[in-house]
Amino acid sequence: MKKLLFLVVVVLSCSKSSDTVTPITPTPVANVEVPAVYKKIYGATSVTNDGTYITIKTKGLPDHKSAYYATTNALYEAFSGTTFGGLNFAKNPNSIIEQSATFKIPVKPMSSANHPATPLGAIGVALNGVPFFNQYAGPNNQELKGEMAGFDQFYGHPQQSGSYHYHVEPLHLTTVKSTKSGLMGFLLDGFPIYGPQEETGSAVTNANLDIYHGHTHATVDYPNGIYHYHFTTEAPYLNGNGYYGTPGTVTQ
Ligand SMILES: [Zn+2]
Ligand SMILES: [Zn+2]
Repeated sequence: MKKLLFLVVVVLSCSKSSDTVTPITPTPVANVEVPAVYKKIYGATSVTNDGTYITIKTKGLPDHKSAYYATTNALYEAFSGTTFGGLNFAKNPNSIIEQSATFKIPVKPMSSANHPATPLGAIGVALNGVPFFNQYAGPNNQELKGEMAGFDQFYGHPQQSGSYHYHVEPLHLTTVKSTKSGLMGFLLDGFPIYGPQEETGSAVTNANLDIYHGHTHATVDYPNGIYHYHFTTEAPYLNGNGYYGTPGTVTQ
């Protein structure tokens, strides 16, 4: 009995000394409360927080009507009007297919020293779970202009593998779900994206933004101020010369 007690004391004192000597390394914790701003992402399959990254899983399906849904889908709607930039809609040969994408964006977005260029493909995610793409068309960063007539009644379109996305103002968010000055989603670096107006109602132009297509001031979601991107009606529409911050990851 005496021997057992002695052992217990040794174990306790060992763990105590290691607690005080070993520096605490921050390790991601599962299921930390998701900050309110990310709860605005209503179209995702799940939104979770591990303390370092917000993980957003999505099927990438638009929650609005589109000429690119199969005609048997309840959200199919024919379209023959004018689309973004006043162009006459010209449907591309692709159609919307359910995706499985996982976005990991830093919960504490930080400015980056090298501002990495945005690649083709998903560079961020909208509140409805649809990915954002940059101002180029594939391959080899061609001008987007050739694709624009293919933007549907809500300014999105699917690429060859059926992944629906927005390069420009997501019209369903700016006119139905939110407003022209509302939160639209997040780029992979964790910085938020707002619509083409400020909360005062004034239109945002490239002249109001830096080369990454953003600037810093307080918003309703970030009363202490935050760097944020804006959609504009002129190129590059969403992101300019790379991410302002260090991007997280996206797997598709
Ligand atoms: Zn596209
Ligand atoms: Zn702003």
